[in-house]
Parts: sequence; structure tokens; C-alpha cells
Amino acid sequence: MTEVMIPSRKVPVIGQTGICVIGGSCTGVFAAVRAARLGAEVMIVEKQNRFGGVAVSGMVSIWHSLKNTTFKNRIIAGLTQEIIERLQRRQAVNSHDNSYSDYILNTEELAIELDRLIIEAGVKPLLHTVFTAPYYEDGRLAGVVVENKSGCGVILADYLIDASGDADLCSRAGCSIRQPEAPQPSTTCARFSGWKFPEGFDLGSALRKYGAEYNLPQGFIWGENVPGSDIHMLAGTRIFNCDCADAAGLTAAEIEGRRQVRAITDILRDKYDISGLALQALPSMTGIRETRHIRALYTLTGPDLLNGVRFDDAIANGTYRVDIHQPGRPGIIFRYLNGREVYACPGQKEEESRWREPVDKDPAFYQIPLRCLIPERAGNIIAAGRMLDADQEAFGGARVMVNMNQTGEAAGVAAALALETGKTIPEIPAEKIRQTLRKGGSCII
Ligand SMILES: Cc1cc2nc3c(=O)[nH]c(=O)nc-3n(C[C@H](O)[C@H](O)[C@H](O)COP(=O)(O)OP(=O)(O)OC[C@H]3O[C@@H](n4cnc5c(N)ncnc54)[C@H](O)[C@@H]3O)c2cc1C
Repeated sequence: MTEVMIPSRKVPVIGQTGICVIGGSCTGVFAAVRAARLGAEVMIVEKQNRFGGVAVSGMVSIWHSLKNTTFKNRIIAGLTQEIIERLQRRQAVNSHDNSYSDYILNTEELAIELDRLIIEAGVKPLLHTVFTAPYYEDGRLAGVVVENKSGCGVILADYLIDASGDADLCSRAGCSIRQPEAPQPSTTCARFSGWKFPEGFDLGSALRKYGAEYNLPQGFIWGENVPGSDIHMLAGTRIFNCDCADAAGLTAAEIEGRRQVRAITDILRDKYDISGLALQALPSMTGIRETRHIRALYTLTGPDLLNGVRFDDAIANGTYRVDIHQPGRPGIIFRYLNGREVYACPGQKEEESRWREPVDKDPAFYQIPLRCLIPERAGNIIAAGRMLDADQEAFGGARVMVNMNQTGEAAGVAAALALETGKTIPEIPAEKIRQTLRKGGSCII
């Protein structure tokens, strides 16, 4: 690649804060709000026009169960619970009790609720603002360079939280990064009106039958109606082999995702004559499942997760089954905490087996330790969200939003306690972080 020199230039300091959060999905917003509620001065930088990340800009509308696998004991609370209650007051969430897919959200209402949460907590937001580079003073990470309508500027910050999903800050700040060989595929969701089919119609079978003719990769599909409406959100596309942390890869993924949405629409129109079906909305970004992971103080493994290993520094609990999307094979493999394994592919009978022999007592939930969020050689930087350090199998379960939301809350509390004491993030005792999370409403076990 040809390289050129860009002349150095003076840029304005556009903000000075205790903590700066990069990325404003629920993960980032929850990090910012938890830190602000502890009295920290916090700024949050988000490249889209609104908060909510994959849920809002990507239209992904399901939050999984907040209870353990017996559906009797609560294992998740905090801001996830608070947001669900706020949305319930607006009839903007449907609940399926005792199901993995417990909550179907109206993600447009979620976007507005996240604005409110940010403003109420006194966090200073910057939307339409992209983090571009770390900023150093005397060799110490002292803030971030951002770019927006006003131009280029620097935000000075004592502590930084990377909630960009893709580890943009950690990777550019020289933290050690791992790029998975076969990342989970991206999916461009879409909303449809007129989503009404004749009795007995099976979408999976239809896509299986005609997919190849329309160059539609066979994959996995799910969908839900927007609560209170007959608008249907479909997650039916599957984009493999595009590195979404690379500009060209991300561009290709966006275009391919939209092409696949059209292929699905055309199959329904051409082959089934579904009258009245209309593509109603596309997401403002493709749904990215996986790009970079940080190398942290601990790598969460599949056996840790599936055997429900308990950690002294646990900051999150979850039950979502491991799902493995594999390139080269359609469908998904699900692994459950009770040893079941299920291969599911649209339009095909599920195949059931076991990933382990039965045991006396199955674990009822798993945990994520704080150490998975702290980059090696960290000082004043902590990660939150899907960039956490987890192997392929552990990531397949840990990655869902009710879990990632908790990593955000933990990162916010860790940064706020570090700011209060002037220590580095790894110096803050995990037990102190756990106690503070519990006091602020989290379910800490
Ligand atoms: C299609 C699909 C279906 C899924 N289904 C479910 C499901 O049903 N339920 C579930 O719980 N989970 C589901 N997941 C997983 C879950 O949505 C993600 O793992 C989770 O949202 C990751 O959260 P995150 O905050 O780490 O990242 P993201 O949600 O990707 O958020 C990153 C945020 O950072 C911003 N950002 C990125 N780079 C920059 C930058 N340089 N400067 C400023 N801002 C930046 C982005 O705009 C975004 O807002 C699904 C994921 C996909 C893609």
C-alpha cells in the first residue's frame, strides 16, 4: 500500500472529562450512566444518530431471559431491568415468560429511552461523532481524537471505556487484539408490512427451496413483530467472509446484506404471490456479530461457560445457550447448559444430540469475570461488550445483549472507582466493583 504523510495540525480540545465512553450501544450507554450515577463526569461518543447499537441501528429486538434456567431465580437486574420497566410503561415490550427469548422490544422506543437515561444521568453526549485515534500526553493515553460536523477535535479524559464493539480504541491504542479465524456472520435485518402468509406456509422451507436460485445463502432465520403493530422484523440474511472491522469489508457486507433482503422479498413475491408485502425499513447499519476481541487478563472458555464455572470477580450472569454459526454449513448448532446439543436449519428437521453426558446437577447459569474486560497492560482503559476476551464457543453464548449490558455496567463502575481513587483500573479490587454494582441495582452472585 502506498503511504503518504499527513501534515500535523493543531486541533481544538472540545471536551475535558473524567471518563469518556467510545460507542453508544446499550453497553456503552449503561457504562456511562453507571459511572455518572457514582458522581463521575462522563462523555459518550457515538457515530450513529442515536444510541442503541445493534438493537436500535441494527433492529435486533430480542432481549433474553433475566432468570436462571429454572426460570425461578433472577440472575440479571440493573439497567437492563430498569429499561424493560420503562418500556413496559409505554407498551413498547412484549414478554414471553419462561422462554429464552423473554422480551421483544420496540427498538425505536428504546432509542428514545436511552436518550432520556443519558440526559437524566447528566452524561454529556456527542452523536454523529466518530472516534478516530487515541491521544497521548507524555506517553500516557490522555484522551481521544474524534471527528464530526464541527471538524476534528480532542476529548481529554482520565479514563476511557471502549464500547465500540470492534475494539476500535483498544486496537488503535496498541492493546493486544485477536481476530477470530471464522467470525460469526453479519446479518442485515429488515422490517416488512403486509407480512401475512397462507395457512401452513413455512418461510424456512420456502427459502431452502428457492434460495439457490436467488443466490441466497442458506442460514438461520428468526423474526418478531414490532410490539403493538403488524410490522414484522426479519433477521434472515447471512453475510460470511466480510471483515466488518475493515472499511472495504464493511462496505461489501452492507451491500450484500441489502441484496439478500431483496432476494428474500423477491422469493416471496415471485414464488408465493404474497400480495401487499412491502419492505418497510432497512437498518442504518448491518448487524455485526463479531470482529476483533481484546487479549485480556483472562480468556473465557467454552468449558467455563457451559459448565457454569463461578468466578470471584464475576460481574455478569447469563443463560443464553451457546450458538455457533459456521461458515460452510447452513444452520446453527446450539449447546445448552443441560448437555443438549441441537442442530437447527430452516426448513429442515432439528437434529438432537449431546455435547456432554448427563450429570447429577446441571448448572443453572454461567458467569463472565471482570478480567475478560481488562486489556493486558491496561492502565486507564477498559473494554465492554462483544470485544470481550472469549473463545469461539464461550462467545457464542456470552455475546447476547442482556450479558453485554452487564459488562457495560461493570466497566462504568470500574472506571468511576478508578477515577475516584486515582488508581489504575486493574488496581481496583474486583470485590469493591462487585459491591458497588450490587448497591446500584445489579444482581451480583
Ligand atoms: C443480526 C444479529 C442478531 C442478534 N440477535 C440477538 C438477539 O436476538 N438477542 C441478543 O441479545 N443479542 C443478539 N445479537 C448479539 C448482540 O446484538 C450483540 O452481541 C451486542 O449488541 C453487542 O453489543 P456491543 O455494545 O458490544 O456492540 P454494538 O451493538 O455493535 O455497539 C457498538 C456501538 O459503537 C458504535 N461505534 C463503533 N465504532 C465507533 C467509533 N469508531 N466511534 C464512535 N462510535 C462507534 C456503534 O455505532 C455502536 O453503536 C445479535 C447480533 C446480530 C448482529
